[in-house]
Amino acid sequence: MTAGRAPKRDQTGPTEKCGVVGISLEDRAAALPTYYGLYALQHRGQESAGIVTHDGFQQHDHLGMGLVGEVFSEDDIAALNGESAIGHVRYPTAGGVDAANAQPVTLSFEAGSLALGHNGNLVNTDALRAALSEQGHAFSSDADSAVIAHDLARNLLDEDLVGAVESTMERLHGAYALTIMHDDTVAGIRDPEGNRPLVIGELEDGLVLASESAAIDTLGGEIVRDVRPGELVVLAEDGSDFDAYQLQEPDRRASCFFEYVYFARPDSVIDGELVYETRRELGRQLWAEAGVETDVVMPVPDSGRAFASGYQAAAEDVEFAEGLMKNRYVGRTFIMPTQEAREQAVRLKLNPIRSTVEGKSVTLVDDSIVRGTTAHELVELLREAGAESVHVRIGAPPITAPCYMGIDMAARDELIAAEQTVDETRAAIGADSLAYLSQEAVAEAIGTEQADLCMGCVTGDYPYDIEGEATDRPVTAPRIDGDSGT
Ligand code: AMP
Repeated sequence: MTAGRAPKRDQTGPTEKCGVVGISLEDRAAALPTYYGLYALQHRGQESAGIVTHDGFQQHDHLGMGLVGEVFSEDDIAALNGESAIGHVRYPTAGGVDAANAQPVTLSFEAGSLALGHNGNLVNTDALRAALSEQGHAFSSDADSAVIAHDLARNLLDEDLVGAVESTMERLHGAYALTIMHDDTVAGIRDPEGNRPLVIGELEDGLVLASESAAIDTLGGEIVRDVRPGELVVLAEDGSDFDAYQLQEPDRRASCFFEYVYFARPDSVIDGELVYETRRELGRQLWAEAGVETDVVMPVPDSGRAFASGYQAAAEDVEFAEGLMKNRYVGRTFIMPTQEAREQAVRLKLNPIRSTVEGKSVTLVDDSIVRGTTAHELVELLREAGAESVHVRIGAPPITAPCYMGIDMAARDELIAAEQTVDETRAAIGADSLAYLSQEAVAEAIGTEQADLCMGCVTGDYPYDIEGEATDRPVTAPRIDGDSGT
């Protein structure tokens, strides 16, 4: 079998962490609710956004680079006819922007039209692409999503949607939550390990699929349930009902723990767990494992807020204070191209509130340390503002390895904890003390077994076979035999 390849930081294709929406309505254009749904998922991707609709006769699409509010004008939405739609927001990657990778991917072929939006990352894209290229498929982008779409289109030539998806799923290896639209039929698929989230919601006049339940709330809908790992959900064209097909039997779970820790919105419910409560529980566990009595505990806004609130609730005599003010107009510091730019950006983004810091011992709580830039700059800022001591508490274990499943983490040599002990990291960020949360506590707070979580970025032990990476876990080999299924 061909294993996945380590994503390079200068490639735009492989490191995707996105948000997907799919909507079928009874008697109303689906483009506007899809737009609102994407708005609710904006945190999952800021590089590009796209909506594809179908009016029963033909497909319409509008895709562009930038935020949802920038990509679509009122006229663009009005031109997207049809009661079926899928939408996508794409995460920025270190290699910069590439319009060719904007999604949903669209294809027109003998068996109709197809559109596909993907959240996640396959680890066998090269083998799949090579097999399809041999059969004459030409790819205009290097994204794995285009490969899935082509594979599906090929299967749709002689199978119905369920059969075609089943054949394609047998060949996919990696993380994926997909919304697809074949003509005007909208469907959703979740990978057999349940690595990426996908949830079904009910609206007054239809059904919605979304990466996170916050999108369903935004549309005034109700959560029906999560799409199960390995399941295909096909929405009726009028959005009145859905059919579910368990196409792959999961033999284990590998839910991404980082969705709970950082990526998902705190107001989303993933697999039955409200992310905010999970983060508060992570904070409580952090106090239990590594609490330190200081004058104040303060979050790194916004990512550390729920953690700090849980931590402080569990502590007896530690005051909660907002010690850092966020400039909400500064974008994400994580994706800045150079270290210098990242350091400057942290200071543009966060400024201390002197009165809550001066002369105090401070505990600073955040969800994670990746490169260590944020923690280093903030410890320095708090000291400049007069903090007597700064103790850093992190609601996740040290990130020591790259992610191949779709979270845009730094490369291994950029990860501060990859080669250093906790004390070396503490010294590097300049803190008086530093503690992370244990893997066991993370699983307990999420309410699951550790074995059912993907913690590859912490352990270097991945649920998939990745070239150059060892794994102790059982991996399943996909079927990639160029001419099967046609
Ligand atoms: P760093 O400064 O590189 O250590 O990054 C850590 C900060 O970035 C923390 O405040 C996190 O909340 C945030 N963060 C962690 N992972 C990611 C990610 N994949 N994308 C964007 N931001 C992240």
